[in-house]
Amino acid sequence: MKLLERLECAPQQRIEASVCGLCGHRTTERKPLCSDHVHLLPHARQVIAELADREREEALVAAQGESAVDPFGSRAREILTALAVLGARATRRLRIDVDLEEEDVLEGYLRRLEREGLVELLVLGSRRGTPRRVATLTTAGLHCIGDFA
Ligand SMILES: [Zn+2]
Repeated sequence: MKLLERLECAPQQRIEASVCGLCGHRTTERKPLCSDHVHLLPHARQVIAELADREREEALVAAQGESAVDPFGSRAREILTALAVLGARATRRLRIDVDLEEEDVLEGYLRRLEREGLVELLVLGSRRGTPRRVATLTTAGLHCIGDFA
């Protein structure tokens, strides 16, 4: 395409792409929907649904413990991935890494993942005498991560 033609076409395309397809409001970064409607895009809906599922599951784990954990769910996968990336991890730190507020909830996930053979929980002594609980991936857990990727 010649430069002149490109210049003539470009403004029109830009206008088309920077207006919300639902309400006609301007959008940023050529998004097809404005900030009021962007949550309706398929990918956004999927993310929102996944977050809702995670919250629901975490509430159930808080109430019922490890039996409520979906070992192949998004939260369990995140915990396994964190252990794969960070290596063996003190459970206190892991809780911060995966941004889980309640210790009991992480405990529920770890116990379930241990029961599934994906995680091993160890108690290590420290020089200061306070034993630390450490979570680490098993070989099966590592393979499991490979399957997700
Ligand atoms: Zn809109």
